[in-house]
Amino acid sequence: MKTFEHEPVMTGEVFEILDLKPGGIYLDCTLGGGGHALKAAGILGQGGTIVGLDVDQDAIEAAQQRLSGIECETFIEKSSYVKLDEVLAKLGIGKVDGALFDLGVSSFQLDETGRGFTYREDAPLDMRMDRSAAVTAASLVNEADERRLTRLIGNFGEERWAARIARFIADFRTKSRIETTGQLIGIIETAIPKGAREKGQHPARRTFQALRIAVNTELENIEKALPKAIEALRPGGRLAVLSYHSLEDRIVKNIFRSAENPCTCPPDIPVCVCGLKPTATVLTRKPVLPSEAEIERNQRARSAKLRAVEKISNQE
Ligand code: SAH
Repeated sequence: MKTFEHEPVMTGEVFEILDLKPGGIYLDCTLGGGGHALKAAGILGQGGTIVGLDVDQDAIEAAQQRLSGIECETFIEKSSYVKLDEVLAKLGIGKVDGALFDLGVSSFQLDETGRGFTYREDAPLDMRMDRSAAVTAASLVNEADERRLTRLIGNFGEERWAARIARFIADFRTKSRIETTGQLIGIIETAIPKGAREKGQHPARRTFQALRIAVNTELENIEKALPKAIEALRPGGRLAVLSYHSLEDRIVKNIFRSAENPCTCPPDIPVCVCGLKPTATVLTRKPVLPSEAEIERNQRARSAKLRAVEKISNQE
């Protein structure tokens, strides 16, 4: 197996904000190659506990190897973070001290041949993080109707040529199925006029992002999982999220905001009647960004944004 080359993003900032203590419990919702988890292990030490989740079997194996020598008690589970509550219950773990979501795709997944995540390689159109899932990029591109493709590429890729790309996809597949990233790139390149392309960006970048988000139901997953993660924190426990594009970041920001201020009463009502109480305090008014030095060293850090909340104590 290829080595899992993925430099963890903003580790200094992440672990400063999580403020883990020796002996604590850390929940890594996106274990990947275990880069962040390894760093956490160094802080937690013997007596500490790490729970790591990932949907990608290759990531699980890489993390198992990477974390094999650590002193903490380690539980690695192939599970979606959407089910983090079920996993914790199964393991008999009550509340955790710190949790991390490092969203998006790992460098390993991008580099691993044959997974179809990247427009830099000709591969089958797959893009599943969990290879036991039913929907692939190929099934979407070949089976979704043109209107749905337009919406999907427009919404998840923020691609202004979405309608034209969807039309060209629909035309192409009347002749033959679209099976590879190379075929799709060819279609996108014919759909977006040369003069209208974004400078320095691959013309397929937005469509690939859109398909990846759709195949892995990424935004829906974040929406379901973040409230569960806040719920899983002990009072004073912290949740940090690294996001990599504006769609993710907006969801994270809104969920954190409504954890801090969940009241749904109209503003002209003098006292709150909805009864919804804050569950967490936002620690990052503005997202924390990586240093210039890290961006230079680590490609994946380029678009990273870090946000965090702290769970409110029950007495408040
Ligand atoms: N922090 C890691 C890298 C994480 S990359 C490190 O330092 O090595 C993001 C990971 O999230 C990928 O491995 C991907 O498979 C995983 N992932 C994506 N969606 C997921 C989900 N719904 N549940 C669990 N893991 C998920």
